[in-house]
Amino acid sequence: MLGAPGSGKGTLTSRLLKKVTQLSSISTGDLLRQEIGRKSSMGKVAEEYIKQGALLPDDFMAKFVTAELGTRNWLNNRASFLLDGFPRTGNQAVQLDNELLKHDSRINLVVELNVPPEVILERIDNRWVHASSGRVYNLSYNPPKVPFKDDITGEPLTKRSDDNPEIFKVRLDKYFEQLKSIKEFYQQQGVFSTVSGDTSDIIFPKLLQLVESKFT
Ligand code: ATP
Ligand code: MG
Repeated sequence: MLGAPGSGKGTLTSRLLKKVTQLSSISTGDLLRQEIGRKSSMGKVAEEYIKQGALLPDDFMAKFVTAELGTRNWLNNRASFLLDGFPRTGNQAVQLDNELLKHDSRINLVVELNVPPEVILERIDNRWVHASSGRVYNLSYNPPKVPFKDDITGEPLTKRSDDNPEIFKVRLDKYFEQLKSIKEFYQQQGVFSTVSGDTSDIIFPKLLQLVESKFT
């Protein structure tokens, strides 16, 4: 799943997983934030980049995701999985491809979420998260049942430190800078699709249809 920061990757992934029960997912952003929360050595490295809105180095990310896929045994089990937030550069896409090829696997669908930048900017203002689970709330269209509390655990919600306007602009620019090479890479493989819309409610049915077409 490809999309600008705030385009709804996390929200749409969780909606998708409820409908398509064969699917599991990894969100690199959520995993990195968990490492930061644990104050692990990896988390400390990640924090330095994330707080500036910078991308982590490709080799670091490729190792991180490969290790995670290994731990979950998804490649050996030929599981169906969705990656949210990875690959994010052409180089990461190549490294992922090489890893998958070792297991005689391929990415069979890449979806770009195309949401107008002005819509995204407004969302970020309203975004609150439950850091340890990655659950995302929007104060106007997807508010928590109890204000500023997670629906499941009741724990307090927080703002992501990289959701402030200046850092956000950096992240948005970085995304569009990288999009072209990833897009070309997957277009050549014939697996690239774009879904557009102002809201996740508009995008979701289109996304679901694309994903379901891979299971029938
Ligand atoms: P959103 O969660 O709104 O979709 P996003 O795409 O900017 O926004 P995450 O995917 O949560 O955010 O990632 C947060 C940060 O983690 C990124 O800004 C970057 O610093 C780091 N990161 C996550 N995935 C990668 C990756 N594949 N390569 C490099 N850095 C990454
Ligand atoms: Mg995310």
